[in-house]
Amino acid sequence: MRKWISFFLLSGALLSGCTGDQRSPLDTSIYNQSNDKIGTASLTEKPDGVEVALKVEGLEPGVHAVHIHEFPKCEAPEFKSAGNHFNPKSKDHGLMNTDGAHAGDMQNVQADASGMVDVKLMLSEAKLKEGQMSLLRKEGTSIVITNGQDDGMTQPAGDSGDRIACGKITLDADEDEASDPTEPDKKQEK
Ligand SMILES: [Zn+2]
Repeated sequence: MRKWISFFLLSGALLSGCTGDQRSPLDTSIYNQSNDKIGTASLTEKPDGVEVALKVEGLEPGVHAVHIHEFPKCEAPEFKSAGNHFNPKSKDHGLMNTDGAHAGDMQNVQADASGMVDVKLMLSEAKLKEGQMSLLRKEGTSIVITNGQDDGMTQPAGDSGDRIACGKITLDADEDEASDPTEPDKKQEK
């Protein structure tokens, strides 16, 4: 018992020591077309880009595409509100395209026989810090999973099928549901 107590005290001290930068790691919840939470993505700033640790369940077994999209809006069931792929450099789509790729393009992921995905992906051009390549620029971005796989070439989205899950990448991603109507809207435009 005593061991556990000191463990918690220690981890508490470590956590409070890290609150200086709230942008990394950044956790977001991922929702399916019925608005049920099916997993999370944890984004971490690294020297060579942003690492995306994706943990999702309830997908159809098989290969799916994952992309970062340009708007932090996940309106089910079609998630068109998320816009196009995150593409601040105005390139073509596709990791296999010589005129590509979008900064939001990532490798496909494989859902196992039980529909689970647990992988780490890399966004080599993205940042979490301020700037043109930041996933948090303006209001933020989103991460979207599709039912098909990205062929790495076809415009504009790799022929990857319907959008089936979405998670908002913002500094207050998890606060929306619990927002307090008595509190002034901090995001209000002038
Ligand atoms: Zn793309």
